[in-house]
Amino acid sequence: MPRVTIEKDRCKGCSLCVEACPQQVLEMSLDINVKGYFYARPVRAHHCIGCRVCAITCPDVAIEVAVHGTLYHYFDY
Ligand code: SF4
Ligand code: SF4
Repeated sequence: MPRVTIEKDRCKGCSLCVEACPQQVLEMSLDINVKGYFYARPVRAHHCIGCRVCAITCPDVAIEVAVHGTLYHYFDY
């Protein structure tokens, strides 16, 4: 099964990934991170199809997706 991981303290709470996910896997948290933002988190991880749209969409490179043992992490900086 694909696995999506969000580094919550990199998140700036823009919610682009939540809107981009075709499976409604992600939601914004009601907690805040160290930057003071509500952060995205996977709440329906079992619905993830590993499309990686969330990781490509995130402007802050906060999302990694692992599919069949391959870890996708875009624009490493
Ligand atoms: S990999 Fe695709 S289905 Fe999975 S959380 Fe990201 S956008 Fe949603
Ligand atoms: S796209 Fe990135 S910065 Fe924006 S809410 Fe999602 S994880 Fe956070």
